[in-house]
Amino acid sequence: MAINNGKGAIGLDKEDTLYQHGTLALLVPGLLTGTLTIGELLEHGDYGIGTLQGLDGELTLVDGVGYLAQSDGNVVTVDPKETVPFANAHFQRATDKLEHTQITKAALEKEIMQNHDYENIFFAMKIHGVFSSVRTRVVAGNRQPPFKPLAIVAQNQELFSAENVTGTLVGYYSPELFQGVASAGFHVHFVSDDHQFGGHILDYALTQGTVELQRFENLDLHLPVHDSTYRKHRFDYDDMSAVIRSAEGNE
Ligand SMILES: [Zn+2]
Repeated sequence: MAINNGKGAIGLDKEDTLYQHGTLALLVPGLLTGTLTIGELLEHGDYGIGTLQGLDGELTLVDGVGYLAQSDGNVVTVDPKETVPFANAHFQRATDKLEHTQITKAALEKEIMQNHDYENIFFAMKIHGVFSSVRTRVVAGNRQPPFKPLAIVAQNQELFSAENVTGTLVGYYSPELFQGVASAGFHVHFVSDDHQFGGHILDYALTQGTVELQRFENLDLHLPVHDSTYRKHRFDYDDMSAVIRSAEGNE
């Protein structure tokens, strides 16, 4: 919903806003200090994705609870005091909802982009259903400093797969223009209903499920201004996009 102030519709409801702490770009040189708690993150949404300090695992927020897929294959509930260097959250209220059967990740993403004029906006994608296959990766970071650059940390990752798994996919599409602020394109995570399987999605095939899209009018970007390491860092923008694509891309 939006409120009309006479000058046009302005999104003022909390569901119109995508909240983001940090930027994808700050992960690239290894600015991996957690600068927001999970508890604070959950004040800005009940669904979302992110990573913990040190790129330790893949975080997924589902219905107000943070689940961390760990590189040992376990999925654990995250303590609200744990911290994130980068995360997104939103309050779920779909703007599009459809039932889908028998579709692959590539086909679904293509269909969404063909059926909606969504190329230049941020939107969330949430799917709950049965997946014939889900492939994930989980970065094996280190919770304690010193931290290494993203390209180095991301080499240390574990791959997981599940078949005929029921669960929730959560993530976002970000416009190409915002590469660096976010990871351009689709960036989605997964948690199974039994909390035995999850991670950053590489690929999936949906057997049957409800696909919800939620477009946002606002991006609420919160930066770690209290972290002097972040404030003093001189970013090298030259190969940032290539590193993000390689480390955070879907393929
Ligand atoms: Zn991810």
